[in-house]
Amino acid sequence: MLELRGVRQRYEGRIVLELEHFVVERGTIVAIVGPNGSGKSTLLRLAALLEAPTEGQVWLNNRPAMRTAGARRRVTLVEQRPVLFRGTVRQNLAFGLRARGKRRAEIDAALEAVSRRFGIGELLGRARRELSEGEIQRVAVARAFALEPDLLLLDEPVSSADRAAALQLYRALQEERSRRAGGLTVCLASHQLEDAYRWSDDLRALADGRVVPVTPENLFRVVLPPGAPEATRHVRVGAVDIAVATDRVGPAILAVPPSDIILSREPVASSARNVFAGHVTRLARPRPGLVHVTADVGVELVAEVTEEAVRELGLLPGAPVTCAFKASAVRVF
Ligand code: ADP
Ligand code: MG
Repeated sequence: MLELRGVRQRYEGRIVLELEHFVVERGTIVAIVGPNGSGKSTLLRLAALLEAPTEGQVWLNNRPAMRTAGARRRVTLVEQRPVLFRGTVRQNLAFGLRARGKRRAEIDAALEAVSRRFGIGELLGRARRELSEGEIQRVAVARAFALEPDLLLLDEPVSSADRAAALQLYRALQEERSRRAGGLTVCLASHQLEDAYRWSDDLRALADGRVVPVTPENLFRVVLPPGAPEATRHVRVGAVDIAVATDRVGPAILAVPPSDIILSREPVASSARNVFAGHVTRLARPRPGLVHVTADVGVELVAEVTEEAVRELGLLPGAPVTCAFKASAVRVF
């Protein structure tokens, strides 16, 4: 459905996105996760054909998109801070449908359906200045749905929403996907990993403009100091120094696989070079039987453990915990 081939995007000479081959299959929901500045919004803007990449091509349905007449109409991007036009929410929702030549009755039916699904019926008569940030976001997503795009690009669609509104949005997304029977493809930028795991079919982690071949937890942008070859380097991340076994020097991304982090209640004697004490902040269950424990140990780390470990160690939010991992467990990109 969507392919970015040999894409490089430069701003002011600096490469902010570099994707050799990024593919999103038809009918799937792909989450793009990564820290701020990793290139998520840039990727979505290129996919939305709002900008041509400095190098490379965006393909839609097996053709270079820039040369496909009407391609832009089949793709809709909802930006993180969407812009509503003047006028009421109803007029905002109707505008694109009218521009696509829909008749009055069709427009009314489409508006009725999306308002119900997004719970925005009571907002229809309001002007944009009478809406909160979260409501604007919800209206913008509803407006995009009403257009029935083949490719829907959502840039942090719940960043201003409360949990209830976020759930409603993701449920609506799932429903729409089943209703469209494989005809809807979604690319979703998010830095909320739990949502990304729960609502997408596939996760892609971006770091410094590149897809990194690891799970998206525990990615840190660092500058590795010079040192003797083969020595373990120490690099500051948040409030801790992480020991890394690498001979790389300079800017890099560090990744600590969640399954390589050992948790204990108290600091224990271990050969691991990295041992940090702190407390549990969150628990999440991305897949049955697996628990992601987020701990604040001077930096936020996510460890993957079993339900048994959670019980045995009493891992509840606020509980003390120690994270340990080897210098050799830290991957460098
Ligand atoms: P994300 O959405 O993951 O936070 P962005 O795609 O917004 O990341 O940004 C990636 C990098 O590109 C950042 O360093 C950002 O400052 C830079 N960038 C994005 N858009 C522009 C632009 N129009 N001009 C200059 N730099 C930009
Ligand atoms: Mg962004």
